[in-house]
Amino acid sequence: MHDTAAVAAATAWLGMFSETLAKGDIAATLELFAEDCYWRDIVAFTWNVKTMEGKPAIAAMLEATLAGTRPSGWQVESASGAHSEPLTAWFSFATAVGQGRGIFTLEGGKCRTILTTLQALDGHEEAIGFTRAMGVRHGADRNRETWSEARAREEASFGAGADPYCLIIGGGQGGIMLGARLKQLGVPTVIVEKNAKAGDSWRNRYRSLVLHDPVWYDHLPYVPFPAHWPVFTPKDKMGDWLEMYVKVMELSYWGSTECISAKFDAAEQRWTVELMRDGKPLTLKPTQLVFATGAYGPPKFIPLPGATGFKGEILHSSQWLQVQGQARGGDRRGQLGARRLGGPLGSRRRGHHGAALADHGGTLRNADGARLRYLFGSGGRCRDRRRHGRPPRCRDAIRVAAGKAAGAL
Ligand SMILES: Cc1cc2nc3c(=O)[nH]c(=O)nc-3n(C[C@H](O)[C@H](O)[C@H](O)COP(=O)(O)OP(=O)(O)OC[C@H]3O[C@@H](n4cnc5c(N)ncnc54)[C@H](O)[C@@H]3O)c2cc1C
Repeated sequence: MHDTAAVAAATAWLGMFSETLAKGDIAATLELFAEDCYWRDIVAFTWNVKTMEGKPAIAAMLEATLAGTRPSGWQVESASGAHSEPLTAWFSFATAVGQGRGIFTLEGGKCRTILTTLQALDGHEEAIGFTRAMGVRHGADRNRETWSEARAREEASFGAGADPYCLIIGGGQGGIMLGARLKQLGVPTVIVEKNAKAGDSWRNRYRSLVLHDPVWYDHLPYVPFPAHWPVFTPKDKMGDWLEMYVKVMELSYWGSTECISAKFDAAEQRWTVELMRDGKPLTLKPTQLVFATGAYGPPKFIPLPGATGFKGEILHSSQWLQVQGQARGGDRRGQLGARRLGGPLGSRRRGHHGAALADHGGTLRNADGARLRYLFGSGGRCRDRRRHGRPPRCRDAIRVAAGKAAGAL
C-alpha cells in the first residue's frame, strides 16, 4: 500500500535537508538530526566507505566534502512507517559527478540514520537497457568478425602482450560480481582463480552445505535466480550457477591460475603481477589490482590451554570435510565458535554427536562477498541497503532495545 503520510513526512524532511545543504549551512543541517545519529556514506561524499557517528563527526565530514560533492535533486522514492516509528524512506540524489541513492530513518521528526551511496558516474553508466550493445551490424560484409570471434580475439590478447586494465585476484562470487560490473562499464578485466573452475570454492565445501540466506537475498547482478529456484541453494548448485554466470556474462576468467606475487611500480603507475597459469609462469601489468580472495583466509589454529594433554582429536572447522561420514556412534564432540562455518556445522551435527556451541559473540558477519555484493549491486539490494544503512553500533542499540522489549535481556 502507498503510505502517503510517510511519503509526505519524508518529503518535508528531505526538502529541509536539501535546502540547508544547498546553502552550505552545516549548523542548520545538524539541527535536522537526532542527538544519537549516524551517517554512513559509500563513495558519494567521502569517496570511501565511512560511518560518521554523532553530530561532530557529521559536521567534520560535511566541512571536508560538501563543497566538492554539490549534492542536488533529492527525491523521496518511497517511505513507510509514519504511524509506527521509525519512519524509513528511500531517496535518490545527484552529486557533481554522478547519481546516488540512499535511505534514512526519522524518529520524532529528526534523522536517526542516513545512508548515501554513489551508484553511477555520469558519462560512465553501465551498458544496459537503452545503452546495451546492438549485437548486429547491417550491410553485406563476408569478412565481418562475428561476436564470438571478437570475444575469442579479446580473450587471446590478454597474456599475449596486452594487459588488462584491471586484474581481479580470486574468482569467487565477489570477484565474479565485480568482473561482471566492470564488463558492463567497458573496463578490460581479467579474473584469475586458483581453482580449476568458477564455483569450485562452493563445491569444495562440506557435503551438506546449503546457502544460509534464502535465494531472494543471493542474486548476482543482471541475472537473477529463476522463480523455480530452491529457497536455500545447495552448494554444488551454487557452484554450477557461478560457472554458468561467468559464461553468460562473457567474463575473462582464468581458472587454474594462482597469483604468486604482486608489486606496485610507482614510476610506471602499474602493478607487476606474477601468475602461475596451468603450471606455467606468466606476468601481467595491470593498472588496477583487486584482491577478492575472500575473508576467511587460511585456517587459524588458536592455542587452547590444555590442548597438548587432550586425549581426543582437535579439528579446525575447515577439516570437517575430511572427517565427515567417519564419525562413529557414541562419538562425543564439543565445538568452539558458532559463526559462519561453526554455526551451520553445529546445527548439522546436532543429533548425531551432541555438539555444544560456544562463541565469544559480537562478531559482525558481513564482510567479503556480502559487502562486495552490496557495493556492486544485486537483487537483494533493498535488504542490503537497509542493513548497511544502520551502522553496527546503532544496530546493536536497536537489538538491545528490541531484546529488552521482548523481555529477553
Ligand atoms: C558455510 C557458509 C555458508 C554461507 N552462506 C551464504 C549465503 O547464504 N549467502 C551469501 O551471500 N553468502 C554466504 N556465505 C558467504 C559466502 O561464501 C562468502 O561471502 C563468499 O563466498 C565470499 O565471496 P568472495 O568472492 O569474497 O570469497 P570466496 O568465495 O572465498 O572466493 C575467493 C577466491 O579466491 C581464490 N584465491 C585465493 N587466493 C588466490 C590466489 N592467490 N590466486 C588466485 N585465486 C585465489 C580462492 O580459491 C577463492 O575461490 C557462506 C559461507 C559459508 C562458509
